[in-house]
Amino acid sequence: EEYVEKTYEKINRLEPKIRAFITIREKEEVKKEIKEKIRSKGKLAGILIAIKDNISTKGIRTTCASKMLEDYIPPYDATVIEKLKQEGAVILGKTNMDEFAMGSTTETSYFGPTRNPWDLERTPGGSSGGSGAALASGIVDIALGSDTGGSIRAPAAFNAVFGLKPSYGTVSRFGLVAYANSLEQIGPMAKNAEDLAVLYSIISGDDPKDATTIPFEQKIVEKVNLKNTKIGVLKDIVDASDKPVISVFNTALDKLSSEGAIIKEVKLGYTDYALPAYYIIAMSEASSNLARYDGVRYGYSKYSEGNWRETFAKNRGEGFGIEVKRRILLGSFILSAGYYEEFYIKALKIRRLIKDSIDNLLKEFDVIISPTMTVLPPKIGEVIDDPVKMYAMDVNTVIANLAGVPALSQPAGFYNDLPVGLQLMGKYLSDYYLMTLSAEIE
Ligand code: GLN
Repeated sequence: EEYVEKTYEKINRLEPKIRAFITIREKEEVKKEIKEKIRSKGKLAGILIAIKDNISTKGIRTTCASKMLEDYIPPYDATVIEKLKQEGAVILGKTNMDEFAMGSTTETSYFGPTRNPWDLERTPGGSSGGSGAALASGIVDIALGSDTGGSIRAPAAFNAVFGLKPSYGTVSRFGLVAYANSLEQIGPMAKNAEDLAVLYSIISGDDPKDATTIPFEQKIVEKVNLKNTKIGVLKDIVDASDKPVISVFNTALDKLSSEGAIIKEVKLGYTDYALPAYYIIAMSEASSNLARYDGVRYGYSKYSEGNWRETFAKNRGEGFGIEVKRRILLGSFILSAGYYEEFYIKALKIRRLIKDSIDNLLKEFDVIISPTMTVLPPKIGEVIDDPVKMYAMDVNTVIANLAGVPALSQPAGFYNDLPVGLQLMGKYLSDYYLMTLSAEIE
């Protein structure tokens, strides 16, 4: 009773300013469900969780922050939601995000931006900015996000919380509304690394409904010693970071070395090409994935009579926001005859070179670290009208998605009360190692 009352009191007080949620469930309904589940033996019996609004929840509106899906109520749960419910978790609501997860600031949402609880003038990062802000404001202790090119780690960094982009194929994407399938994973967000690990232990695992999940059981890593841990620092990313970020990052590094970690600067090959390769691949996949929203199969459906071409064009023209349209157009262009080899195939080759380069580095090092974001949380409106500036914010985070390796963001410290994140990137399938190491650094 008290837990629910307190939570809704916080919602009433903070949500009008922050707007972390698109949909919040009825208090009485939530209370009833908690009462039913609290006595179960699940790992999350009666615990409230916030879910990013691109993850399918049966009977709860799932909008992807788009006008296109404003009224869409899924008839099924994503696999991760089924698993959470089996462990007794109770969904509090669906969090705001960039439209179809395309963005880094939660400003491309059809429902308006979320504000950063640490500074209401600033963005909470994105695209899982609602989940990040819901954690930072204390409304929930655990949340889910999705990460295609940094969407869990950017908001984790900007809200001073923890977030994991899992190894590709370890968490089912069944029920995650697709943006760029080959890059994205659903992942946990929380206020400490231990909670991340609990969430990950629940949502991960092979799923017959997602052929890209791998049949492999990861072992929980109980203990990691910072002493003699071999840490590589991504020099290119540090050099590309703003001064305030570098100063907080260097203080974190000093602490690591005083605790006995062995730290060396490293260079990853092809970092300059990571961002263009990522955006070429992501937009190509997006243009294909978003073809289903035509108002007939899915989505906003205003014009159901007349010429079908016109009907589709009208539905798509009115249902999608500007950033989504930009990406569909660019993605279609990239995949068209004549340009496919020049852009798409080249991007895939770069992706392979980056992956090989990371795999090689991680033979020598236990973990590769860097500032998660090269900038402090931008002010609302600062980057949204300049897509190239917005894309450039992802220069570091996209690397792990291209390579499929796990990456975690945790708080590194503050600069004038603004959070700075520390990213740990590890070997493929070393997710538990990363989380245990993160707890040790914490
Ligand atoms: N900012 C990146 C993009 O817009 C990453 C988004 C994400 O991870 N979903 O593609």
